[in-house]
Amino acid sequence: MSDIADRVAHILSEVPDYVQVVAAAKSRTPDDVMAVVHAGIGVIGENYVRDARTAQSLVGSQARWHFIGRLREHDVRASTLTLFDMIQSVDSLSLAQRISEKCGTLGRSMDVLIEVNSGREKQKGGVLPEQVETLVRHVSALSGLRICGLMTMGPLGSSPNDYRPFFAETARLFKELQQLQIPGATMDYLSMGTSDSYSVAIEEGATMVRIGSALFGPR
Ligand SMILES: *Cc1c(COP(=O)(O)O)cnc(C)c1O
Repeated sequence: MSDIADRVAHILSEVPDYVQVVAAAKSRTPDDVMAVVHAGIGVIGENYVRDARTAQSLVGSQARWHFIGRLREHDVRASTLTLFDMIQSVDSLSLAQRISEKCGTLGRSMDVLIEVNSGREKQKGGVLPEQVETLVRHVSALSGLRICGLMTMGPLGSSPNDYRPFFAETARLFKELQQLQIPGATMDYLSMGTSDSYSVAIEEGATMVRIGSALFGPR
């Protein structure tokens, strides 16, 4: 078995069945992406539109494709949106409006997660925790997309426990929004945790984890 297949088997055995594992594929070759899919990963997370296109030319519909990077508004075109089943990094009304509009012309809708800047970091994407509910209310009213949950990165930690307060705060927001039952915002997925932090994220309530190096090997 390849190293990748071993790593995938290990992660899938560690993660509970209700947690969706997304393979974070940045800087990996299409062959590596194919290898994780063959080993049993069903969802690929891409940070760059161009990488997604390249990987899809090999892997195609054998996986589902999530966009997990920063999306600039002018990158939101119909030809971009057709590449993805979900966009995990929606953090403004104007971005959501543009996605909704372009999806309208495609005659489809897009599943999205709202990205939370749980660490309140200036350089990071995501909406501040206290602005999440307002954004969810506005975005959920748009016809071309469906909010399926929240996503967060959290500030880079030096140990897994460093992530815990940021994951806990995002989980608290997630539960509040679940209870509000806002139409168009189903809150099925709480996407948080990477190679370093997925165990802590799952303890704090993640139902989706985004794992790169622990699946593909060191970058
Ligand atoms: C790179 C990346 C990950 C995965 O990080 P690893 O440390 O390689 O597991 C998860 N989410 C996002 C948004 C990323 O850019």
